[in-house]
Amino acid sequence: MKIAIIGGGISGLTLAWYLQKSGVAYDLFEADTRPGGNLRSWATPEGFLLETGPNSLQLSPELEELLADLGLTDQIQEAAAVSQQRYVLRDGRYQIMPGSPPSLLTNGFFSLKAKWQLLKEFRQPAAPIDKNETVAHFFRRRFGSEIVDYAVNPFMAGIYAGDPEQLLINKTFKQLPALEQQYGSVLRGLMKSGKGAGRRRIITLKNGVQTITDTLAARLSSYQSGTTVTAISRAADDTYQLELKGPQGLEAAPGYTHLALALPAYAAAPLLEPLFPKAAAALAAVYYPPMTAVYSAYDRAAVAHPLNGFGALHPKVEGTYAAGSVWTSSIYPNRVPAGQVLFTTFVGGAQYEDAARQPEEAQKAAVHAELSKFYGITGAPRWQGRYVWPRSIPQFDARIVDAHRAADALEADHIVAVANWRVGVSVPDCIRQARMRAGLLAAEK
Ligand SMILES: Cc1cc2nc3c(=O)[nH]c(=O)nc-3n(C[C@H](O)[C@H](O)[C@H](O)COP(=O)(O)OP(=O)(O)OC[C@H]3O[C@@H](n4cnc5c(N)ncnc54)[C@H](O)[C@@H]3O)c2cc1C
Repeated sequence: MKIAIIGGGISGLTLAWYLQKSGVAYDLFEADTRPGGNLRSWATPEGFLLETGPNSLQLSPELEELLADLGLTDQIQEAAAVSQQRYVLRDGRYQIMPGSPPSLLTNGFFSLKAKWQLLKEFRQPAAPIDKNETVAHFFRRRFGSEIVDYAVNPFMAGIYAGDPEQLLINKTFKQLPALEQQYGSVLRGLMKSGKGAGRRRIITLKNGVQTITDTLAARLSSYQSGTTVTAISRAADDTYQLELKGPQGLEAAPGYTHLALALPAYAAAPLLEPLFPKAAAALAAVYYPPMTAVYSAYDRAAVAHPLNGFGALHPKVEGTYAAGSVWTSSIYPNRVPAGQVLFTTFVGGAQYEDAARQPEEAQKAAVHAELSKFYGITGAPRWQGRYVWPRSIPQFDARIVDAHRAADALEADHIVAVANWRVGVSVPDCIRQARMRAGLLAAEK
């Protein structure tokens, strides 16, 4: 058994790490000269430590174990306690979002009508399962429109850069319809099963999340950077041969019994095209909306808002330019020079596509204008920067269903998909999935 892993983001690197630990032969090929894919930490000359992709990670058991395994436990930095508080824009001003089911009822964020609908959910019979039901439809039917507009909409934009009217409940939070079926009510199910209880710790790494992927790549026995897989073919003995474009020019790498696709669906599609055209078409259809992260720093004294939270999200109904901002300097105060605050503002995603495609100066100006309005900022930013993701996060909408079916079918040909579009988009999801896959592959040995 010999596995070719294509892609050195967190998924591919974690897969390689656990295969290595199990004694399974592998080679990992990464197109970029830098490992990590979406995990990219950026130390600017102005003294900011920024993340262009994931900025905060939920400390799942698998992530915690991986960090311990890599000797990185002492590099963990907890999010500041204040970041438990999250704001949402409502009627043009930021209001604290209730953080737990009981506070949904006691906090003034939702109207009496919405609270009444929440209570009614306990007595509302379960509907038959619909595998194509969208997130918005599910929540509207159980909890009403206000919850969809002011809680679900900004939440899904925050996690998936997505639109709840398109994302499928069965592909994103499938435990919720399952609770509805089992307990007759989502809320009763959450209470009885204990599934909604407890929050995971939110962390980063002291020198940026990229520390994880840099460390992984450095520990691998067969990691080839700056090496793009340009084609896949199959030999008479059914093994796979890769065509590589790397520092040595074009090369062939034969003799792989298995392939692991640890790259975006749109990048895997052309590689699959000659051998598996139907699968290639399904993967090519997965939608990755554009997204730009705009960073804006101000003197603390120039910002009226207390910034006592994780950040603020914008429901689409509020008609804003950006999807919201993370208050980087509140969550991780050591990442900005003393006396300054830093906003990471998300422009784009499925609901704000046009804004994501605007030129740099227009984006920076629009973000500064919106920040000034909502945070009571006087004066110009001390510094602004941005990072563009032409294709950001895969959308778990109707288009991903065929890609998942295709990935299931490819397993018969010893091709496994181990990337964020396969099971879940968070970094802990990718780690859990890659580790599980490594276990299954090792068991085949
Ligand atoms: C803006 C943004 C913010 C995010 N915020 C968070 C967050 O706060 N918390 C969180 O948990 N998650 C967050 N995520 C999601 C998370 O970062 C990703 O889902 C995860 O990092 C994906 O990892 P991956 O290894 O599956 O794919 P990728 O990171 O996309 O890695 C794929 C790799 O494949 C390589 N590759 C592509 N084509 C080829 C080829 N032909 N040959 C060889 N190599 C190839 C690429 O260079 C890349 O390195 C965010 C994502 C984005 C974009």
